[in-house]
This record gives sequence, structure tokens and C-alpha cells, in this order.
Amino acid sequence: MKMFKTMTVAGAFAGAMLSGTASFAQEKFVTIGTGGQTGVYFVVGQSICRLVNRGTADHGLKCTAPSTGGSIANINAIKAGDMDMGVAQSDWQYHAYNGTSEYEGNKFDKERAVFSVHGEPFTIMARTDSGVKAFDDLKGKRVNVGNPGSGSAGTMDVVLDAKGWTKADFSLASELKPAEQAAALGDNKVDAITYTVGHPNGSIQEASSTVDATLVSVEGPEIDKLVADNPYYAKAVIPGGMYKGSPDDTNTFGVRATFVTSADVPDETIYQVVKAVFDNFDRFKSLHPAFANLKEEEMISAGLSAPLHDGAVKYYKERGWME
Ligand code: GLU
Repeated sequence: MKMFKTMTVAGAFAGAMLSGTASFAQEKFVTIGTGGQTGVYFVVGQSICRLVNRGTADHGLKCTAPSTGGSIANINAIKAGDMDMGVAQSDWQYHAYNGTSEYEGNKFDKERAVFSVHGEPFTIMARTDSGVKAFDDLKGKRVNVGNPGSGSAGTMDVVLDAKGWTKADFSLASELKPAEQAAALGDNKVDAITYTVGHPNGSIQEASSTVDATLVSVEGPEIDKLVADNPYYAKAVIPGGMYKGSPDDTNTFGVRATFVTSADVPDETIYQVVKAVFDNFDRFKSLHPAFANLKEEEMISAGLSAPLHDGAVKYYKERGWME
């Protein structure tokens, strides 16, 4: 996918001439890859940009955060130099930097971590009339596995592999985007939808309010092994009562949403972005319920496997969070 390249614009030139000063602010456009509009990545990107753009007069950065296909699409766009930053699941951050899984033979050495954000449970919601209560009940059912380029669909592949299943074990494996899947569940086009995502989110909310549906547990020895073998996975619980039709806790596993960039993005850019977030941290946390419990100390290490970007390190040292 082609997005804005970083570019510079002498935006304030006319103003500088009028006021008779020789200096003018240089505006530089930076782009953050997000996800579907009913997910949480979109809010992460929009929130960061909102904070960055409050300081454009000082630092010159103008930030945009368009909707994208998700983690893998974002990492690929950053690698290609088409985007500056993006949100990505901790498992895909890991695989891109280490050249494993989908990134075998396609290592992203210059990938850099910035911070991590909210947890993202691997989430399945099924129509109540499908009878699906646990992952194994999905055999023979119509399942939306998610759009190509999403971290969510990638993690679904990992789970299928771990179970010794393939997509052929479903009677239908659709590739609808997050914004389309709630309606597909409501219209009985699929029995279940899958989404690795922070909670609460619009997509699952919409699905559970459109049709009688319930969250599905994802447990068992194969999941225990995935969590034990891989640093970027952890057990996760979706709290009961968050969505209509799911009054009890749902056990599953999950990843963390992380914010990534490339070593090719200037230190000053990442420094200013990180500063905008952490200088205004209470404001940032208030922008989505999934951010409410974020803690600075955790965000600069949990779920990060690529090296931290130098511009982020500069800020974290200034705050005394790193030696
Ligand atoms: N984790 C999802 C993905 O990478 C995106 C979730 C979201 O947009 O909040 O595909």
C-alpha cells in the first residue's frame, strides 16, 4: 500500500516574510499506520497524532494516522519507507525483526520499537445459535479469519497450526475486514468472527448488540504450549460483563499492541512523538478505555523485541526511566 512519504513544506514562509523575520517553521508530515476504523489501533494513531499536532508550531511535525489493514501491513509499509511509524502486535514485531514466521527470508533489521500500548486478547465471538462455546467447536463452521495484512489473521494462522488444523477445517474461511465482520455475523453469513484486539472495541460491541452472540474460550494444551514457548504471548482474560451475552470471564491468550518505526526515521521525529505522548500521558490515557491502565515503566519494555529507537531512548533517559 502506498501512503504519504515524509516530506517537508515551508508552510509558514509567507507569514515569516510579513512579520519581517528571517526564520520560518518547517513542516514535516509524518504518518502512523493503524488498523480498521472499528478497532483500537485507529484510536491509538489518532490519539498520538492529536497530541503531536498540538505542538506543530514548536516542532513542525504534522501527523496523520490513516486506517490500514493492520499490523503486518503497517510493518511492511514502514519497511518500504511508505510510512514512518505504525501500531503492530508484539508477535509480528518480533517476527519482522527476527525474520521468522511470515518474515522468514524477509527480515526487517532496521525495525525499531518505541513503546507498547494495551493488551490484545485473541478474541472469538460466535452466534449463540451456532452452539460454538470453545475453539474446538469451530470445526466445520463458517469463520471470518480476518483480512490479509492484519496481525489478527496472522495470529489465527498460528493457532490453526498449533492445533494441527488448516482453514479447510472450516466450512468457510472468510477474509472480511474488522469493520465488515459484525454485520456478517448479524446477517448469518458467518458463525463466528475472530479479532486480536484491545477491549472494549467497536467491532465486538457492534456484533454483540446486533445479534445474540457470545465470546468463545481459547484454551487447552496447544495454547499453553504457544504461551510457554513464545515470549510475545501471554494468557489473557476478557472480563465478563464487557459485552452483551458474555456475562462471565472468557479465557484466551493474547499479545500486546506495540508502536514501531524504522531506524531510518530521524531521532528528532521519534523524540518529539514520544514526548508528545508521555508529557501528556493522563490525557492520552483518557482517550480510550483500553488505555486506562497503561503504566509508563511497562510500556517501555513489555512486548518489545526490536531494539528501542534512539529518539525514544533519549526521552526515556531524560525522564530517568532508563540508565
Ligand atoms: N491487532 C489487529 C491487527 O493487527 C488490529 C487491532 C486494532 O485495530 O485495534 O490486525
